[in-house]
Amino acid sequence: MTDFSQLRIDGQRLWDSLMEMAQIGATEKGGCNRQALTDLDKQGRDLFVHWCKDAGCDVTIDKMGNIFARRQGNNPHLPPVLTGSHLDTQPTGGRFDGVYGVLAGLEVVRTLNDAGIETEAPLEVAVWTNEEGARFSPAMIGSGVWSGNFDLDYAYARADKEGKTFGKELARIGYKGKAPAQARPLSAAFEVHIEQGPILEAEQKQIGVLTGVQGMHWYDLTLIGQPCHAGPSPMEGRRDPFMGLHRILDALYKLAAEHAPWARATFGDIRVEPGSRNTVPEKLVLAVDLRHPDQNILNTMDQRFREIAARIADETGLEHQIRDEWRSPAVKFDEKCVEAVRSAVAELGYSNKEMVSGAGHDSVYISRVAPTSMIFVPCEKGLSHNEAEYAEPEDLEAGANVLLHAMLKMANSAV
Ligand SMILES: [Zn+2]
Repeated sequence: MTDFSQLRIDGQRLWDSLMEMAQIGATEKGGCNRQALTDLDKQGRDLFVHWCKDAGCDVTIDKMGNIFARRQGNNPHLPPVLTGSHLDTQPTGGRFDGVYGVLAGLEVVRTLNDAGIETEAPLEVAVWTNEEGARFSPAMIGSGVWSGNFDLDYAYARADKEGKTFGKELARIGYKGKAPAQARPLSAAFEVHIEQGPILEAEQKQIGVLTGVQGMHWYDLTLIGQPCHAGPSPMEGRRDPFMGLHRILDALYKLAAEHAPWARATFGDIRVEPGSRNTVPEKLVLAVDLRHPDQNILNTMDQRFREIAARIADETGLEHQIRDEWRSPAVKFDEKCVEAVRSAVAELGYSNKEMVSGAGHDSVYISRVAPTSMIFVPCEKGLSHNEAEYAEPEDLEAGANVLLHAMLKMANSAV
């Protein structure tokens, strides 16, 4: 087999493309607001498609508006090696979240074109529609429909705050394609993304080799006591939901600590009823978010959470209810894809760390239907979904080089 060990992507060209794409929806604070299926999203897609056609790719749009730019391989019978991410952003988004993964894929294609290298399996660069879920909920619906987790009609009926539907907006911007939005065989799928967390930067590692994605369980915990006057009622004998809550919180933080460093316990919202300054509340509704990359441990945390809530509610004279709001099972990435990334990183000599993603990505859905893994690069202070989001050009270049070599390995491994 040909020796590709000296092959590198063009970091400057990658950076220039990122900056050119960032002008579409550029915000005053240096970020990007290019929400799904807006006129700006259309402009960003048009630019990407134009670049792909210039690079000799065949472009297909599916019924969800997912874009697939294909660079043919020598063996048309082999399923493609795919990479991709998203071009949509949060309202106060940055210049790298998602778009880096898309344009790094394009840079891989451009690099292979320049070097005149043909692969055995075809390569594809994908843009998944509405990853962010900022304009249309839920998030990751493009890859979600494609992988069979949502129905097409359900997706088309999603409405934004103004009542405009996904289906109509998709047609309006001209990206309601004809190809079926459903999974087809892939040799492998990769996604390179900024970390959106502080770990790589803090440990001064250039590449994150992802082995999976955290599982997430969302709940509403309700505690019901007895409302009474804040003054005349002695502290003893009150049935105050907060007296139970503070012990439950303490126990859940300890539970997360028991399963450090990857367990997470977050309480992002609380509702108090009746919500009056001088009344012991009757009811608290707490949003609980538990996460762990190992589904067995997450199941244990789930069970312990239920035991803790039941015991403490009982001891403090409260009624309690736990409502399951949403679950996303832990993802374990494909061992061959992880190994392709691992060995690419080793050959390229980049400092690295094996880790799991704490955020959801399109790769969560793709991994249910195809061998998948991800690559992370550091982002400044772990800041993302923020206009100040920043990643160093040399880290972006390193991540794209890892992607290039991992894709080459998988595209030629059948030979
Ligand atoms: Zn993203």
